[in-house]
Amino acid sequence: MNSDRRMKSDSRGMLSGAQEASIPGGRVAKTRQSLISSSMVGSTNRGRVLQSLFDFGPTSRAELARLAGVNRATISGIVQPMIDDALLVEIDAIPANSGGGKPAKPLWFSPEAKPICGVLLMPNAVHSCLVSLEGIILAEDRMVLPSGAGPVDKIVDVIIECVTRTLAKAERPPLGIGVAVGGMVDTDRGSIVAVNLAPALDGYPLAEKLRQHFTMHALLDHHPRALLVGDRWFGKGRGVRQFAVVYTGEVLGGAFYFDGHLYRGAAGAGGELGHTFVQLDGEVCLCGRRGCWDTIATLGWLRRQASKIGLPDAAMLDSAKLVDLAARDVDGAERLLDLYARNVAVGIANLQQTVAPNLFVLHGDVVRGGDRLIEAIGDHVRRMVPSRPGGEIELIAGDSGDQAALLGAAGLVLSDLLQFAV
Ligand SMILES: [Zn+2]
Repeated sequence: MNSDRRMKSDSRGMLSGAQEASIPGGRVAKTRQSLISSSMVGSTNRGRVLQSLFDFGPTSRAELARLAGVNRATISGIVQPMIDDALLVEIDAIPANSGGGKPAKPLWFSPEAKPICGVLLMPNAVHSCLVSLEGIILAEDRMVLPSGAGPVDKIVDVIIECVTRTLAKAERPPLGIGVAVGGMVDTDRGSIVAVNLAPALDGYPLAEKLRQHFTMHALLDHHPRALLVGDRWFGKGRGVRQFAVVYTGEVLGGAFYFDGHLYRGAAGAGGELGHTFVQLDGEVCLCGRRGCWDTIATLGWLRRQASKIGLPDAAMLDSAKLVDLAARDVDGAERLLDLYARNVAVGIANLQQTVAPNLFVLHGDVVRGGDRLIEAIGDHVRRMVPSRPGGEIELIAGDSGDQAALLGAAGLVLSDLLQFAV
């Protein structure tokens, strides 16, 4: 990344770059709304100010000036149009102490700012929401999808119905629609490549359909990348320069954030961590190859093992239940918990050795296992990766439900708009 794109870092050295990686294509200029009015487009500083607010929360003009490396007058000139545009507001300051001078009023996103529509599309259900720029879910709807075998129009009708219900609750026209897809996507075309269990959607140009139907900017991305974007804008990745997201559950996936950029392969490929090989000549995977990480670290594997050793309710086992069984000393549970932790750790250790993100935000099933499981995975990862000064590996829990993916789907639009605006 060019150093001139990067904001001055603060004492924590954590400020990310001023530009997000773009979603390379599939843009329709006439339906796109800019986060910032056209009169304000063109200033990198405005994008920097917005990113500072996302990274550090409510921030005073003086602090923004320090972070952006400009003087107070310049900052006032940058933020005043955004206040006039109802994008930012001054919020009440908390005085540092009772004897102090007049406290500076921090700036933050206005409740009047336009929201973003985030959508999570899974093989059997669609979940849509409105997200404020503060990362608060304002409204949401969820609908079960008809059979993934098709016809595709029936599925798409339900997706549109769900989004329509959500948009009807918006007090202002949203900035756009971001969709996190539980399957492979072509981010250039805004189309679905393949969704397991919903083959009717394969190849479907969903972004274009949503743009035409709602006359609004719309884009798609792979579910784990949406999780990462959600963490970056609204969650535990705020202000962090490098981190990775790993999703576990029925499938495994991941995404990477490097020096202020979300990494995407060509047309949105990559992140299919479940099909990286961890065991040559291992078990046959659903993809037809042998020894994929999916074959030893998904819920499917966990339930098969639980069944073999006779754990109760094995077919419905998840990390929360396994931790509970282990805590109650149910025979075999403790050992299976450790084996699951080790098998999840193998894939994380491989990622760490390859691209060295030291912070991993975990999402999905393992989060339900709480500190007990996350710490067990971390211990295995640290045993598998040679230690290195300054390279302490940290695993933290993200979210086990839909919220992070919904926020991330909305964050996709935010990343795209900021790229456009700056
Ligand atoms: Zn596979």
